[in-house]
Amino acid sequence: MKENQVIGLHHITAIANEAKRNLDFYTKVLGLRMVKKTVNFDDPGTYHFYYGNESGTPGTILTFFPWEGIGAGRNGSGLATHIGYSVPKGALSFWKQRLTQFNVPFDEGEVFGEPLISFKDPDGLQLQFVEAADPDNRPPWQTPEINGDVALKGFYNVTLTLDKADATAKILTDILGYDLQKQEAGRLRFGTSNIDTANIVDILETPDGPRGYNAAGTNHHIAFRVKDDNILMDYREKVLAAGLSITPKIDRDYFFSLYFREPGGILFELATDNPGFTKDEPLSTLGTELKLPKQYEGLRSKIEKALPQL
Ligand code: ZN
Repeated sequence: MKENQVIGLHHITAIANEAKRNLDFYTKVLGLRMVKKTVNFDDPGTYHFYYGNESGTPGTILTFFPWEGIGAGRNGSGLATHIGYSVPKGALSFWKQRLTQFNVPFDEGEVFGEPLISFKDPDGLQLQFVEAADPDNRPPWQTPEINGDVALKGFYNVTLTLDKADATAKILTDILGYDLQKQEAGRLRFGTSNIDTANIVDILETPDGPRGYNAAGTNHHIAFRVKDDNILMDYREKVLAAGLSITPKIDRDYFFSLYFREPGGILFELATDNPGFTKDEPLSTLGTELKLPKQYEGLRSKIEKALPQL
């Protein structure tokens, strides 16, 4: 791992409608672990759910803002449109059966020779499970129904849909340290050798496709991973030097963050490994209690009453 540079994806954040439906789908149907149950720090009447492996290792964390009653968004250009998970070799047959059992339609296909299935979560967010050519040795979270031979390892890739690839590609290569690795009709695959998992970003170029609209079932932002605050602030200088605006460092309790909008319109974040999800609860009980940031602790009873039932 090249620890002084971007080390793949940190987390991906999307928008959902009903909180309970989202929770049931990701923890029960897909078997991810809820590693943190908190609120949206900018809107404490809304949950913020984090799903991942046992400890919520960066590169495994999918997070949601479930806004009850929000309408459906539309996937299209200017959004990260597909979230790819890595599954063990041979696991796709298990997942096809399991999705069928839960009445989730799926498509089968392949990208760059790797077999995958594509399907949507209950809000329309597009997920892909990929049997990658290279082995993925990350230990997955297991449930009674989903054992380690088939469980999700963490992210494989994320796909950005753009009407023009160039300006975004330049951010990936010149700032974030990715290289163009493969290319096929309409798709560019970028990767970083700084880490060997969650290290792929694809760009789908759709010059005539519809523009995306950000609401339920669409991505809110994607976060790239850095080791600590010092490296985070080095990247802040690089983004500024490229002529883009970027936020100051923001304390997200479980990591420190910077946000900037890349030229294709997608919100990018840089997020640190420190301090991690065991900051305020032990590993064995991660995600079981509602955790609030300091500024909302005094409002706990009011917030708990306003949040939807799970
Ligand atoms: Zn984020």
